[in-house]
Amino acid sequence: MTADNPAAGTSAATAGTSGPRLLAGGPIAAEIRDALGTDFAAFKERWGYVPTLAVVLVGADAPSAVYLQQILRTCQRVGVEGRLVEIGSEVTADAVCNEIERLNADPAVAGIIVQMPLPAHIPLHAVIDSIDPAKDIDGIHPRNAGLLSLGYDGFLPATAQAAVEILKRSGIEIVGKRVVVVGRSNVVGKPAALLLLREHGSVTVLHSRTRDLGHYTRDAEILVVAAGRPGLIRGDMLSPGVVVVDVGINVVGDKLLGDVDFESARDVVSAITPVPGGVGPLTNALLLSHLLRAATDQAERGAAATAGTAAASAAGAAGQ
Ligand code: NAD
Repeated sequence: MTADNPAAGTSAATAGTSGPRLLAGGPIAAEIRDALGTDFAAFKERWGYVPTLAVVLVGADAPSAVYLQQILRTCQRVGVEGRLVEIGSEVTADAVCNEIERLNADPAVAGIIVQMPLPAHIPLHAVIDSIDPAKDIDGIHPRNAGLLSLGYDGFLPATAQAAVEILKRSGIEIVGKRVVVVGRSNVVGKPAALLLLREHGSVTVLHSRTRDLGHYTRDAEILVVAAGRPGLIRGDMLSPGVVVVDVGINVVGDKLLGDVDFESARDVVSAITPVPGGVGPLTNALLLSHLLRAATDQAERGAAATAGTAAASAAGAAGQ
């Protein structure tokens, strides 16, 4: 490894003797889940209930269904209640928003996520706006997106956070590096770019209208790809020693493929997240860490409000 290689001198994760270092998300996710199991048990002990994650599914969409099983299984593993709220696709936007309002008002529900994509007739912004920002644990509400862009402490979009977290927890230095992000969606590319900027990377964002992608990707020391295009990034578009985070999950036949063509990239990169098994497993674990924070904030606020009411009525009684 050369001094230019961002992965040089790092030791964690699996490494084949011949191939690049594989940045596996599974072991990191397992560590986070173990800690969450303990923390949720302590939460139940302290507050007397198990918080609920509500997963809203509008219409039946195959990729969503696979993802749903994963998130519900993760809920079970860490000891929280996963509640699937299924709404048929023949529904109005108002009906979806009303359902979300009910979840906002339900004290057992600490967090709400809405599965994407929504049916075409339902405006995304109406649904996003209706989620209580305090329960928006995947950071899609404008309030949380604004907090992220200002560098304040809101809920982060879990996938974007996972893309950055896998670098940090694998000991890969981001400070001062030339970081290129492919994709500018509100849920992955854009928040990932903001988080990498927060980590002091020098960030360039590419997208579907970028001319000559390779011109920019070849300059990257760290490359994060979230385009939803299988094999978009090939080995000849990379410079030797680059660290690659492949966020893409594409169902191609019976395979799950990333946005990076692993076969041509493997001899060029110094480290790369595999697909599957890279960013994906980390996303759910981080989402549930957000649930813990949301549940704790809500429980503490509720307790403070109750104490305030009790104090006010005691003062009222004393004044009579
Ligand atoms: P999206 O379709 O909303 O956005 C894709 C982005 O890629 C857009 O900004 C677009 O401009 C850009 N893009 C598309 N084609 C391009 C091209 N040829 N060249 C350059 N840029 C191009 O997708 P998304 O929701 O951001 O998801 C991106 C990928 O990440 C998908 O494969 C998705 O399945 C995956 N994903 C993974 C996880 C996870 O947990 N690992 C979670 C969410 C999404």
